[in-house]
Amino acid sequence: MNTQAAIKQQAETHLLEAAKEFQKCMQCGKCRSVCPVFKELGNELYVARGKNKLAEKLVSGDLQITKRVKDAINECLNCKTCSANCPAGVSPEHVVLRLRWYITTQEGLGFFKALIFRHLLWHKWPITLGAMFIGLAQRALFGIGPKNPVRYLFPLFGFSKRRFFPLMALRSAQSQYPEVIPPKKGPSKGRIGYFTGCAGNLIYTNVVKSVVDILTGYGYEVVIPKKQKCNGTPVLANGDYDGARMFMEHNFDLFQRHDLDAIVVACSSCGMALKKEIKVFMEESSELQAFTEKVYDINEFIEKNIDIKKEELGSLPYKVSYHDPCHMVRGQGISEQPRKLLKMIPGVEFKEMKDAAVCCGSAGSYCITHYDTAIKINNHKVENIQAAEVEYVATGCPTCVMHIQDNLLQHESNEKMRFVVEMLADSLRAAKTI
Ligand code: SF4
Ligand code: SF4
Repeated sequence: MNTQAAIKQQAETHLLEAAKEFQKCMQCGKCRSVCPVFKELGNELYVARGKNKLAEKLVSGDLQITKRVKDAINECLNCKTCSANCPAGVSPEHVVLRLRWYITTQEGLGFFKALIFRHLLWHKWPITLGAMFIGLAQRALFGIGPKNPVRYLFPLFGFSKRRFFPLMALRSAQSQYPEVIPPKKGPSKGRIGYFTGCAGNLIYTNVVKSVVDILTGYGYEVVIPKKQKCNGTPVLANGDYDGARMFMEHNFDLFQRHDLDAIVVACSSCGMALKKEIKVFMEESSELQAFTEKVYDINEFIEKNIDIKKEELGSLPYKVSYHDPCHMVRGQGISEQPRKLLKMIPGVEFKEMKDAAVCCGSAGSYCITHYDTAIKINNHKVENIQAAEVEYVATGCPTCVMHIQDNLLQHESNEKMRFVVEMLADSLRAAKTI
């Protein structure tokens, strides 16, 4: 079969899969009451039931791919709130991802997406170098304050001029470590692969340091394969199934070569990709099964495997709340472990915020392409954070940190976003345990 025919056949398979999902829908409308996008925009086409209908009409040929159809399909955070609440077991986010892929096969990926996913992300060095230059520019241009005139250039790159960006690292995390890092003392308790993710590597390098310090401090050998690439989730979310497959197969093969006892991640989307989404792209096998069972979110891994004693923790005298990233709580079923770790820290007064598990609106590239709606959704998160009266909000997802911190700054609110693992490392360092 030639390539074009194969792509056409794949596209039809995806569309039929999407429509099959639709057939389960009972039209009850429950998804309307939970979808964060519907809550802000109130358009039936943007809610799960509407998107399911779109899939059906595209299959039957009653509908063509128009701008309105594409807009509706792109109005989704992949937050999984609808599937978590759907009484019929429909996974509307899978319908959406398949429809995006279908559209890509019909219309092509487009110049910019092809450049980003197939070249810049794939070859990795261009984004590493780009991040370094942006980091230099951020520092040279005296920060990112609201009065900085550089903000007027943001729209040229597709960003709102209101936006506050995090500082990019001058040196990537992966370049700061050897590929294999031995335990700080004693024989190794196990060999742990660390998938840093792009954000950990290029922005939140302190998270990588925290993970490495905790694991090596508690006797593990840590392996950070240098050739690791993006987990594939942003590529998948933009309708590039074949690109996502390339990334997932690459990371699978790479980590398989290192004879690991476990693989940890400190990014909820990376965790979901390596535990679950990879199964959509790779054939079922005992190797794949063993690989996905080895993947842990860092909070999950520490809570399960490391016995941290009270006297090993130093005091952090702060009021702290926790935000559940969608890909952590609904994507991986993790909510108790990070809270447990935070509550263990002496001095921390843990305060649960209202609607902690409701999406913050970041959703990877959604908060770039749909910034105004993403901020409207996030305004509820900011209100709930302010009502909780805390100094820190801890979480486990880089894009949540980025988006919530941006909006907190826009509200001139003093709360700071942090990762749970960073706070835990601070506490262990305060007691000189690591
Ligand atoms: S909640 Fe599920 S069954 Fe009900 S309308 Fe939405 S997708 Fe259909
Ligand atoms: S995944 Fe989230 S944003 Fe998308 S349709 Fe479902 S509830 Fe709405």
